[in-house]
Amino acid sequence: MTMHGGPMGRFGSDIDSIRAKNASAPKIKNLGKRIASLFTPHKATLTLTISLILISASLSIIPPLLIQEAFNVGLFPASGNPDLGLLTLLVWIMIGIYCVNGLLGIAQTYLTSKVGNQVMGALRVKLFDHLQSMELAFFTKTKTGVIQSRLQNDVGGVASVLSNTVSTVVGNTVTVLAAVVAMLILSWPLTIVAMVLLPLMVLLQRRVGQIRGKIAAKTQESLSEMSAITQEALGVSGILLAKSFGRQKQEVKRYQEENQNQIKLQVRQTMSGQGFFTLVQVFLSSIPAVIYLVAGWLITHDFVLTAGTVVAFTTAQSRLMFPMMGIMQIALDLQTSSALFARIFEYLDLVPAIKDPENPKTINKKSLGTIKFNNVTFSYPEAGEETAPTIKGISFEIKPNQYAAFVGPSGSGKTTIAYLIPRFYDATEGSIEFAGVDVRDLSHESLTSNIGIVNQETYLFYDTIKANIAYAKPNAKQSEIEAAAKAANIHDTIMSFPKGYDTMVGERGYRLSGGEKQRIAIARVLLKNPPVVILDEATSAMDTMSERIVQETLDSAITGRTTIAIAHRLSTIENADRIVVLEHGHIVEVGTHAELIEHGGLYSSLHRLQFSTKV
Ligand code: ADP
Repeated sequence: MTMHGGPMGRFGSDIDSIRAKNASAPKIKNLGKRIASLFTPHKATLTLTISLILISASLSIIPPLLIQEAFNVGLFPASGNPDLGLLTLLVWIMIGIYCVNGLLGIAQTYLTSKVGNQVMGALRVKLFDHLQSMELAFFTKTKTGVIQSRLQNDVGGVASVLSNTVSTVVGNTVTVLAAVVAMLILSWPLTIVAMVLLPLMVLLQRRVGQIRGKIAAKTQESLSEMSAITQEALGVSGILLAKSFGRQKQEVKRYQEENQNQIKLQVRQTMSGQGFFTLVQVFLSSIPAVIYLVAGWLITHDFVLTAGTVVAFTTAQSRLMFPMMGIMQIALDLQTSSALFARIFEYLDLVPAIKDPENPKTINKKSLGTIKFNNVTFSYPEAGEETAPTIKGISFEIKPNQYAAFVGPSGSGKTTIAYLIPRFYDATEGSIEFAGVDVRDLSHESLTSNIGIVNQETYLFYDTIKANIAYAKPNAKQSEIEAAAKAANIHDTIMSFPKGYDTMVGERGYRLSGGEKQRIAIARVLLKNPPVVILDEATSAMDTMSERIVQETLDSAITGRTTIAIAHRLSTIENADRIVVLEHGHIVEVGTHAELIEHGGLYSSLHRLQFSTKV
């Protein structure tokens, strides 16, 4: 069978590749609300955090007022001599307040980092879980690297914002408010002067944020492209392909180009808004000087201002600088990360095309093993409307314990039929019954627990042979695993490895031969012991010798269950109860081997062809 845009697909039309050309973040409704709702489960912690912040903010109003006192009453009292007793007291109070605030700060950081990381962690798992529920077609048309990138780069990208935002925003806002309150208490005309340019700053900040958001969307797309390239080029198949065609240089070039793009975007992201930040800094740093000037002007116009008030005022005002910059930075980060959030929500909003029914029907144990296709037509969702259906008007019935084989030229739709039974795809027209129930009325669990599949391409993950076999039944005992391996004729081979069942197999089982891999896959299915097995060209990767071993294995494996074999080599299915011959997605002949040979149609000519070339 053919996968379009699979791991090796270079021309995948996934969402990111399309968007990379338009470079815009996905549009998500109520984005702000949805981001906020992520924090709902942490209300209690957030309330506690905000209370701590309010306490420390209220405390920070006090020191500027104490400074005013220290100047006016302690240092330069009307009596002339400094009041050391009062000064000592004021100093101790200030140190006390700073200490308490420091401790409160540690508690706030702990709480907010906990909430931020928990929210981010939950988001990651939610996304992973959601992706697991997506139908097979989603994965055949989306590059693996692109999916990984959403999980890692996008969720990871919002992580720092999530953990910093709450504390920085609340903390800094309150510090700013406290400083402003203190400033207002000290002198309202000076406060107005200090605040006059603020609205302009806010406007500028919004503009910079928008620009940064756009760059962030592009950066994430470029990151996901890079991740797709890495996934394709550095996977076992990709490396094999590049090495066999001597294309390593081109692969490096492709990576380098995207990397250049990434570098440019990162620099642009850092630089956009630097001018703005410098302006804010210049503005905030110049205010004290301006304040002295304005204070002088006010005093000459009969406005009462003491030296203590002016010093206290500028102290409070200078404490505004870092929190203000912090708030602006976070506002920018939020705008930037909203592009990332939008990308995460876009994936979360994908509706799986194949879902469990709301009220799944139960399987009638008596009919288990019956499979019926009623006039089934199917087109691959990714194939496009104008393409003719892959299979057309297919009807057949397989009875319990029957051995049915599907044969036909490559591309005739054999694998497609097999994929429709466990609902990897849904029929476009017609219906498929499993044990007398429409597969669309059955839960995924009841289907998969009753069907065992040995795929054409055996997938073994990076773990021990034992774990690979036990995937079908995680709590299987060693004796059960060995029994399955023996039945699959692979036990002796496994025992000949120095580490036996604990031998590690590569990501895709590259240390094992095709035949060995398939026998492990058969052992996996035997361990599961399902009433229905689907064997998709299970013998295609083997030489005649291993084919015979597997053939014997299969013969013992299929007894007592319904078997659907998709056969490449006709020699393997001669003893099938029924052979269904397909051509261009149609059933052209049905019968036993003897009947079909006798009939002298497609099967007999395929048979003749294979046996004449086999000698
Ligand atoms: P067979 O198993 O008989 O070799 P398949 O069922 O694998 O044939 O494929 C039947 C047809 O469907 C082929 O023309 C193939 O290109 C097409 N096809 C297979 N998978 C997909 C897919 N994921 N998207 C679109 N077309 C597909």
